[in-house]
Amino acid sequence: MVTLETPIEDVPKISKRIVPALKRLGIRTIRDLLFHFPARYDDFSNVKSIDDVVAGETVTIEGILKRISTGRTAHKRMALTEAVIEDETGRIKALWFNQPFLERNLKSGMAVRLSGKVSLGKSGPFLSSPVHEKIRDTTHVTRSTSDQEQGIHTGGLVPVYPETAGISSRWLRFLISSFLPLAAKLSDPLPVKMRENHTLPELRKALHDIHFPDTLDAAASAQRRFTFEELLLIQLHALKERSKLKQHTAPHIFNDIAAMKQFVASLPFALTDSQRKAIWEILTDIAKPIPMNRLLEGDVGSGKTIVSAAAAYMACQAGYQTAVMAPTEILARQHFATFQKILAPFDISVGLLTGSEKLTSGNAFNIVIGTHALIQKTVLFKKLGLIIIDEQHRFGVEQRAALITKHETHSKERDGSEKKVIPHFLSMTATPIPRTLALTIYGDLDLSLLDESPKSRKKIITQIVKPGEREKAYAFIQKEIAAGGQAFVVCPQIEIRDKRIENRGNLFDLPISNLQSLSSDVKAVKQEYEKLSKEIFPNLRIAMLHGKMKPKEKKEIMEHFKDHKLDILVSTSVIEVGVDVPNANIMVIEGAERFGLAQLHQFRGRVGRGEQQSYCILFPTEDGAVTRRLQAIVDAKNGFELAEYDLKIRGPGSMFGTEQWGISEIAKQALADVKLIQTVRNEAIALAKQDPTLANHPILHARLAELESAAHLE
Ligand code: ADP
Ligand code: MG
Repeated sequence: MVTLETPIEDVPKISKRIVPALKRLGIRTIRDLLFHFPARYDDFSNVKSIDDVVAGETVTIEGILKRISTGRTAHKRMALTEAVIEDETGRIKALWFNQPFLERNLKSGMAVRLSGKVSLGKSGPFLSSPVHEKIRDTTHVTRSTSDQEQGIHTGGLVPVYPETAGISSRWLRFLISSFLPLAAKLSDPLPVKMRENHTLPELRKALHDIHFPDTLDAAASAQRRFTFEELLLIQLHALKERSKLKQHTAPHIFNDIAAMKQFVASLPFALTDSQRKAIWEILTDIAKPIPMNRLLEGDVGSGKTIVSAAAAYMACQAGYQTAVMAPTEILARQHFATFQKILAPFDISVGLLTGSEKLTSGNAFNIVIGTHALIQKTVLFKKLGLIIIDEQHRFGVEQRAALITKHETHSKERDGSEKKVIPHFLSMTATPIPRTLALTIYGDLDLSLLDESPKSRKKIITQIVKPGEREKAYAFIQKEIAAGGQAFVVCPQIEIRDKRIENRGNLFDLPISNLQSLSSDVKAVKQEYEKLSKEIFPNLRIAMLHGKMKPKEKKEIMEHFKDHKLDILVSTSVIEVGVDVPNANIMVIEGAERFGLAQLHQFRGRVGRGEQQSYCILFPTEDGAVTRRLQAIVDAKNGFELAEYDLKIRGPGSMFGTEQWGISEIAKQALADVKLIQTVRNEAIALAKQDPTLANHPILHARLAELESAAHLE
C-alpha cells in the first residue's frame, strides 16, 4: 500500500525513468511530492467555441481531433506537429515544435481539450504549442475536481511547476493529482486559533488549492498559509536557539573603556559612527555572562575587520583568547596581517593556522586566525573567550557549531548546578540584507549594521561595456595601469551548473558549498590569461589565480600583486571574498550577466579601497545581456540600496545569496512582505511564551523537530 512515507522508487505508478528527476527536485517520498508546489498557474479559464477564438488571447477549446501529422520545418529542420480540431462551430489548427511524440498520445477521432495562445497564421488563427488533455466526452466537459483523471492539464487554472530536466509539469500534475487523496491523513500543525485569526485555510484544503485551485484567490490563500507556517517554524526555531543560549554562561569580558580609548587612538583613521556603534554593541554583549550571538552586517569595504579586531583586543585585555575563522586561506592570511598591524602597539600575539600553515598550540597566542583548519585540527585554546567568523554565509551551521562545541567548558554555579561555558560569538557578513529579512533569516542572532562607508572613500565608477567597445575599454585600462594602477579580471565559469535549491527541509542553513575548484572556471581563466598576456597587453605583468593552484603558489601571486610586482591579476571568483589590495583600482568582470548581483557587488568592493579613483568595468557576453540587473549595479550607491532594489525588481526569491537560506521558493517570495513577517513573528513570540516546549502543540512540535533534523542531516 502506498502511504505518504512510501519512497517514490517503491511506488508502482512512478516509472523508474523519472525517479532521478524527482530526486533532483528533493522529492523522496509521496509526502515530498505533495509538498512540491507550483511556481505559477496558467490561466486557461477562458473556454471558447472555435469560431469565437481571436488571435492574441489565451483560450481553452474542446473538440474532436480530426487529424495529426508531423513533418519538418523548411529551414530549421525542426519537427513540426500539426493537428486539426473541430467542434460544432468550426475548425482550428494547432502547431507544436519539436514534440513529435505527441503523435503517439493524440490520435485522430479523440476528444481533446487544448489550452494555449492563439496566433495568426496565413490561413487564419491557430493554437501555438497548446497544452493538451484527452477528455472522454465533449458534451459535458466542465472541470471536475472530483475526477482526478480529468481537468488537471487544461481549462481553468493549471499549475506550472519549477522545471527540471527530465520531468515536466505534466508529469507532476498527473502524479500529484493521483496521490493527493492521501493528504486526508495529514493533520494540521497550525493551531486552530491561529488559523482562524489570520484566515488561513486548513492544511488539506490548502494542499488541494495550491495544486488545483478553482480561483487565483484560492491559490493565493493556500500559498499564504504555507508561507505563514514556514515563517512560523523559522521563527520558532530561532527563538528556541536564543533561549537555549541563555541557559548557558559565557566568559565575562570586562569592558575596559580606558584601554578601548587607547586602541581607537592608535588607529590610522577615525572610526565611522556606525563602526563606533557596532563596537559598543559588541562590547556591551560580551560584558554579560550570557554568550553573545551577534551578526555584524556591513557592505564590502565598510570596515568590519577593525570592529572585530576591537572586540578581540578587548577579550585579550580581559585575559581571554580569540579565534578568527575565515573561509579561504587568502583571507585568513590577510586578516592575520591586518590584526598583526593593528595590534602591534599592544603586545598581543597573533597566530596563523591554515591547511598549509601549522601551529602546534593555540595556547601561545592571544589571537589565532585560520581557515576551517581551526575546526579540523586539534587546536587547544587554554582560555577561549571569543569566536569570530568572517563571511559567515560561507560556513554551514555545522561548522560554526563545531567550533563552539569544541571550546565549551563547564562551570559550577553557586547553587551547585553545572552550566556550559560557551565563548562569545561574532559572525560577519557582507551580504546586505534589509533588516526585516535579517530578522527572519537570522532571527536567532542580534544584529549590528555598518551602513556607511569610511568617508575618505571615492565612489567607484561602474560602466557596462558593449562587445563592440572593448578596444576603448582596453585602451583605458592600459592608460590607468601606466599611471600606476592595477587591475583585477574576473572570469565566470564556462558552464553554469543547475544550482536549483531543494524545495523542502533544510530550512535553516546549508553547509558550505564547494565554490572553488571548478575546472570550468579554471579553463576560462587560462584562456583569458592567454588572450590578455599575448594579444591585448603583451607589455604588462599579468598573472592568473584559480582554485586548482597550490596554496603556496596562490599566496605568492597574491603577495606579488599586493606588492605591485604585477599589473593585472586574472582570476576565478576566488577573489570575491574580502581581498584587500588598496592600490588596485580597476575591476574587470567578464561575462558579467552570469554573476548574481551579490557577487558583482562583492567583486566591485575589491577596488576603491585606496585614495585614487576606481573603476568597475562590466563586459556582458552579448549585446542583449545588458539587463536591468546590470544597470542596477551601475546605479546603486551601496549594497543595502542594491538589496532593496533587487527585492523590488525580482522579489526576494532571487535576491542576494538566498540560496544559502534553504527556505522554499514561496516563502522567499513572502520575504518582501514586511507585514506578514511581523505578524508571524508576533505569533511565534506569543506561542513561545505560552508554550515554550510546544508540549501543547504536538503536531507543530513534530514538524519543527523534523525540519531541524533535516537541516542537520544535509
Ligand atoms: P570589509 O567590511 O569589507 O571587511 P575591511 O575591514 O576590509 O572591510 O576594510 C576595508 C578597508 O577600509 C581597509 O583597508 C581598512 O583599513 C579601511 N578602513 C576601515 N575603517 C576605516 C575608517 N573608519 N576610515 C578609513 N578607512 C577605514
Ligand atoms: Mg572583510
